[in-house]
Amino acid sequence: MATKKTELKVTINCEKCKSQVLKAVAKLTGIDEVTLNAEKGILTIVGSVDPVCIITAIRKTGRFVEITSVGPPKKPGPPKPADPPKPADPPKPCPKPCPPLPACCKQCKLVGVSYVTYYSAPCSIL
Ligand SMILES: [Zn+2]
Repeated sequence: MATKKTELKVTINCEKCKSQVLKAVAKLTGIDEVTLNAEKGILTIVGSVDPVCIITAIRKTGRFVEITSVGPPKKPGPPKPADPPKPADPPKPCPKPCPPLPACCKQCKLVGVSYVTYYSAPCSIL
């Protein structure tokens, strides 16, 4: 199967959405690379995996997903015009950190959160 690059739009509201979506696609075979831009809700998958399988897997998590594009994976590209070696930049601190996503969103609660029961049990150990 040919390798291709599939771009999908996925609703990502929180960290849990993100990990559920990543976990769902991780189960698929034929994936070389997964990139998830949680802020924009763009999931990029490179591999021979069938885009339909990706959609099916993500829909199982109860999330909206649609394919925005399917195409050939990025090619190495034409040789770059001689890039003069840059003068050594001073080491940069991390680029500005992404704003943290909330731990959980309404949508995740709908999907069935089993760990909540741990916290609702009254503590009887003390
Ligand atoms: Zn969520």
